[in-house]
Amino acid sequence: MFLDTRVLRYLTAEDWRVLTAVETGSKNHELVPTPLIERIARLKGGASGVHKSIATLAKSGLIGRMKEAKYDGYRLTYGGLDYLALHTHSSKDVVYSVGSRVGVGKESDIMIVADKTGKQKILKIHRLGRISFRTVKSNRDYLRNRQGGSWMYLSRLAAMKEYAFMQALQEEGFPVPEPISQSRHTIVMSLVQSLPLRQVSSVPDPASLYAELIDLILRLAKHGLIHGDFNEFNILIKEERTNKYTIEDGEEKETETVTLVPVIIDFPQMVSMDHVNAEMYFDRDVECIKRFFKKRFHFVPTQLGPFFKDAKKTVGKDGAKRLDATVEASGFTKKMLKELEKAIQEQQAKIDAGEAVEEEELDEDEDEEDDSGSDSDDEEDEEDQQEEEDHAVFEIPANVGRPLS
Ligand code: ADP
Ligand code: MG
Repeated sequence: MFLDTRVLRYLTAEDWRVLTAVETGSKNHELVPTPLIERIARLKGGASGVHKSIATLAKSGLIGRMKEAKYDGYRLTYGGLDYLALHTHSSKDVVYSVGSRVGVGKESDIMIVADKTGKQKILKIHRLGRISFRTVKSNRDYLRNRQGGSWMYLSRLAAMKEYAFMQALQEEGFPVPEPISQSRHTIVMSLVQSLPLRQVSSVPDPASLYAELIDLILRLAKHGLIHGDFNEFNILIKEERTNKYTIEDGEEKETETVTLVPVIIDFPQMVSMDHVNAEMYFDRDVECIKRFFKKRFHFVPTQLGPFFKDAKKTVGKDGAKRLDATVEASGFTKKMLKELEKAIQEQQAKIDAGEAVEEEELDEDEDEEDDSGSDSDDEEDEEDQQEEEDHAVFEIPANVGRPLS
């Protein structure tokens, strides 16, 4: 799955309205019947042109038809959902341009974006259920079997949960990126100028970095939380430079000290210290750090632990706010957390079983061809392709469509 913003510029206000109508209709229909799309789109003000918009959106892959469907209708694709989210971020002036993809995780795409002032930020697009399978046949079976819109719902849950935790953690002074905005299955956060720990080959003082990371695990525990995926990919290392001036032999001397500051990311799988498997998650996070420090820095701590039973005793102590409770209070029900946890586990199981093939596009081989395309459009596509290669950054014109929210 790749976020392709080329079409964004050409969409009219009517197209956006129709795309939004398909999204609205998706809440109750896996395949939104065409007459329903017309009705919802018209209710919002427009009259004609719905069919033209449908054709444009289908051709651009933002909505898709399903083969062998019992009735005429469309569903939103990941691309369509991406566009709606980007449109919202851009109407809030959070995102103006979309740059290159910096990372592709197992459940997300990470893009660099910028606002109008050129300030760079990170857009994380959650893609739960993106995993597709080796053969087209099983891919189709998978599509047929999955529940209506569940990928959309689960990806949105993941983004909501991650955003809620990032906010709560930031408020408590944890080193996390600044949460800026959330829409549907996406979040925008500050860009941390850093390297993932994974890419750090050596550090001057492994013992102190290790102690700092263990301290973070214990601080989280005190606030009722376990990260759940505390590994070298989800710990970013920032270099902070400070200059110290001293007088030596009557001369001023400047020394620069570089401090390594860890920043933690990736929160959709966070669990409460009260979770039934809390001990397993806690131990796994600790083990992960130990294993990495041994392998990469040949560092082995002299002390055993930390142990879950000790950490458990500190939960909520010294006035530490229970962030697990805070997040639940923000509208996350236990049921939602369970559904998300199950989806994340299932996805992980597929990856572990080697069933998943990344980068294979789910949406591509299921949709019927729309025959409204013309040669000139194709030429335009080619030009755009060229443009994409020439410039890393695409601008989303501020006047595209109409703000959706
Ligand atoms: P996933 O859930 O797919 O693992 P992550 O949130 O862990 O996604 O992000 C994947 C990668 O993207 C990270 O390992 C990191 O390299 C990069 N990344 C994510 N967020 C930021 C950020 N705020 N600043 C800088 N890099 C980031
Ligand atoms: Mg990650």
